[in-house]
Amino acid sequence: MEDLRRIGRRRGFWIGVAAVLAPLALLLGMQYRWLGRLEEADTILRRATLNNFLEAVATEHEFFYRSRGEQLLNVPPELFSEGRLSKMAGMWHGQDLDGLRTLFLVDYTRSEFGNFLVYDFEKGGLYTPPSSDESLAIILACAPWQMRSERRTVIGAGPLRVDEGDPSHRIVLRTVTDEGHRVMGIAGFLVDEKFLHAQLLPAVLDKSFFAFFEEKGGSGFAIALTNGEGETLLGDPGAAKAAAARRNLPFVFTDWTLHLQHFGDAEPDLARSNFALNLSFSLLLALLLIGGLLFSLHAARRAVMLSELKSDFVSNVSHELRTPLASIRVYAELLSSGRARNEEQVCQYGGTIEAESRRLSRMIENVLDLSRIESGRKSYRFETVDLAVVVEETLTAFRLRPGVRGFLVEYSGPDVPLPELQADGEALGRVLGNLLDNALKYSGDSRYIGVTLRRRGDSILLSVTDRGVGIPREELGAIFDRFHRVGRSLVHEVKGSGLGLAIVKHVTMAHGGTVAVESELGRGSIFTLRLPIRNEEATS
Ligand code: ADP
Repeated sequence: MEDLRRIGRRRGFWIGVAAVLAPLALLLGMQYRWLGRLEEADTILRRATLNNFLEAVATEHEFFYRSRGEQLLNVPPELFSEGRLSKMAGMWHGQDLDGLRTLFLVDYTRSEFGNFLVYDFEKGGLYTPPSSDESLAIILACAPWQMRSERRTVIGAGPLRVDEGDPSHRIVLRTVTDEGHRVMGIAGFLVDEKFLHAQLLPAVLDKSFFAFFEEKGGSGFAIALTNGEGETLLGDPGAAKAAAARRNLPFVFTDWTLHLQHFGDAEPDLARSNFALNLSFSLLLALLLIGGLLFSLHAARRAVMLSELKSDFVSNVSHELRTPLASIRVYAELLSSGRARNEEQVCQYGGTIEAESRRLSRMIENVLDLSRIESGRKSYRFETVDLAVVVEETLTAFRLRPGVRGFLVEYSGPDVPLPELQADGEALGRVLGNLLDNALKYSGDSRYIGVTLRRRGDSILLSVTDRGVGIPREELGAIFDRFHRVGRSLVHEVKGSGLGLAIVKHVTMAHGGTVAVESELGRGSIFTLRLPIRNEEATS
């Protein structure tokens, strides 16, 4: 039954642990999954941010050339029909022409192959361009429209068109049509490459970096611009290779690519290190939680054990009190009813009453001692004490006890007088009394008790030896705990309170000493007090 209760208690503990650990493990598992997803989302988000940034740069680039086109290439058709194209030169004059290399008009209303006119950036006015690569590029870009004009093909409204057939002469153009939607002429410009990578893009990047990452100049990022051949025109060639995001320019320069490199951790690394950080944080919390849980379970277990020990203690103490009281009553009744036949019997009854009442007061003294120790009220009266005298007095009283008859109580005193100690002689006497009491109680079949007092170095050693039942090895650490008894006391043959050794330990420690035990099951035990000798010169 007792075993079953113990197993139940032990299982209860593990059930408690499992009840908390299982949800904790589940929670950790779920957190691991969530963090995994978060890591993915984080990576996607970061990549999306980089892509959005490039998209914003590309949009600004496109906006620049389209607005230039809208601003400069909207030529009223009547200027062609009325032959007043020179008016365009006046309209272009004073406009912002940054980013353009050449501004031109082609008139198909007067000549089948078109009249080519180029705006003079410096003087204003239009002139017929000399033959050059640039002129050839313009002619080639306009050729499809020249054919449509010749055939009087009906075309839709004229959006801005880009001709990048010759990468060194990129042309933005717009067709000008009559009311019948036939091509009358063309207005267009050649794009200035250098302006794009030396002025426009750096300005756009700076602005976009600030808008996206709130940092001017984009420290932590590197950007590169490569042309169709893969040559780096802007930024660091390394960035072009290690870029985390890329995008081709839209509208014009469509074979040019923007590369964006993010320094520090690459996004997967960053997301992974975030993941690791979050996970370690969760694990740390879990560990703290488990630690707290184990601590609480341990404390709860101790509390349960203590309450069991206390209830055993109450039952033991009542028994311990009742037994001597019963004997005292019986012998006192025998005396008072005059049933003692002779003086010898009177002495015997009286002696028993005295011994039992001593036992009673030892018991009560122990209980009171422990209660004072627990509440911190225990005080000692330190005075100069000859320990040999204390030991001899205690042994003399012990030998007189009725239960000790038949025992060999052997005392081996010191060879030379011991130095006197500053100690509480009464408390040390009770400590020896408790050890002798135990040697007697747990003597089993043996009838031997040995007491040794000697000096070793700077200490005095006091040992009590018995050849009794001994103590199991695994219990040796616990026997000095209050209320602790080897095995459950309810099944104990020998009654006791579990207080004696707790008091022994406390008193010894209050004297700056230690108590040790050596024991072997079935062969006996040796309890040894080691008390330090202080101020030897002063006392000896
Ligand atoms: P108790 O009142 O039970 O004797 P103690 O605190 O004096 O309380 O001792 C605690 C336990 O240690 C005892 O219950 C006993 O099991 C064990 N013990 C103490 N002294 C001895 C000894 N000399 N031989 C065997 N067991 C001992």
